[in-house]
Amino acid sequence: MSNQMLRRNVVIIGSGPAGLTAAIYSARANLKPLLIDAPTDAEKHTVPGGQLMITTEVENYPGFAEGIQGPELMADFRKQAERFGTEFLETWIERVELQERPFTLHTRDQVIQTETLIIASGASAKWLGIPGEAKVPNGLGGHGVSACATCDGPLPGFRNKALVVVGGGDTAMEEATFLTRYASRVFVVHRRDKLRASKIMQEKAFRNPKLEFIWDTDVKEILGNSADGVTGVRLHNLKTSEGRVFPCSGVFIAIGHKPNSDLFKGQLEMDEVGYIKTSGHSTATNIPGVFASGDVQDSVYRQAVTAAGTGCMAALDAERFLDHLPVMMPSGDEVTMEGEHVTPDHQAIITPDGHMVPNKVECATPGE
Ligand SMILES: Cc1cc2nc3c(=O)[nH]c(=O)nc-3n(C[C@H](O)[C@H](O)[C@H](O)COP(=O)(O)OP(=O)(O)OC[C@H]3O[C@@H](n4cnc5c(N)ncnc54)[C@H](O)[C@@H]3O)c2cc1C
Repeated sequence: MSNQMLRRNVVIIGSGPAGLTAAIYSARANLKPLLIDAPTDAEKHTVPGGQLMITTEVENYPGFAEGIQGPELMADFRKQAERFGTEFLETWIERVELQERPFTLHTRDQVIQTETLIIASGASAKWLGIPGEAKVPNGLGGHGVSACATCDGPLPGFRNKALVVVGGGDTAMEEATFLTRYASRVFVVHRRDKLRASKIMQEKAFRNPKLEFIWDTDVKEILGNSADGVTGVRLHNLKTSEGRVFPCSGVFIAIGHKPNSDLFKGQLEMDEVGYIKTSGHSTATNIPGVFASGDVQDSVYRQAVTAAGTGCMAALDAERFLDHLPVMMPSGDEVTMEGEHVTPDHQAIITPDGHMVPNKVECATPGE
């Protein structure tokens, strides 16, 4: 059976804050974006709407003085994108060909060609895969179990309580240190007898009087119920093989994040973890016409508001590119849709056939 063929100017992958913000901006600019997002898949932990669909209260998204539930916020993002005419397709992008424009994207049933591509495929927190960790009703996820201290640490349920952080790298030290602002005490549970975190992060953590370390230990289960939330964790000492129940009111899993970028490996430049590299001055990747926004290109901030911010940038960059204007690339050159390069010092333009011409308007001779 032949696949349906679609042709668009702007395709966006992902319907989290980054993808939907890119959709709002590009739809309002009359670019008729097509937004593609993975369907609900329990095994792959995906829900249309992205990571905020698996959380409860969002207290730090500006404009909601009393806070808002994550799924409600994402439903409003989507309504706003729909209002300006965004077209939605719920499917997985399985393969991409970015070597030439139009770029070609493959889903199970469609082949999609597009002049510009905005990648907003997000990142996934790594989980331990232990009982009690999954989202309610299958576990206590969202009711005392979290993978984001910045997001959930200030919530009332964690204040002045004993909390457990699982992990031994920089992320774990950062999350644990942050949580000591709110918690009565924070216990870092780590599998080894020393940390993987950088020296500066370790020193800061060891100096913090509210932080304690439980070494050589695995968390086997998160205990509690949906009425009381988390009540403790079941620990297992890897050296002595002893098990015990450790009481606590919250568990933060801090064993790292994985950007959802496998699809683009070998085609787009990434860092060693897989975060897509962008220009810094724009959302341009190393391929002109391909832009990346949100958590898939951000290993540092990873917040809904920063994802939405870069989603807006990606839409404006794509619009600029489709208008034949130069867009800043990671190399520092600015590149147009026709393949002209403006040099970083703005003095020259290199044409697609390799000729260098000055980047200034010839002055008209007086009298002409
Ligand atoms: C439990 C939790 C609580 C959080 N709480 C807060 C908070 O209170 N405040 C805050 O600011 N931030 C919070 N965050 C962080 C915030 O959710 C993220 O920073 C934000 O969602 C990133 O947005 P994004 O658009 O980049 O990607 P995501 O929200 O990750 O969305 C990406 C989408 O792309 C889809 N996708 C991926 N690959 C493909 C593919 N091949 N084909 C089709 N679709 C694909 C995914 O299924 C997903 O729907 C929280 C995160 C978690 C996990």
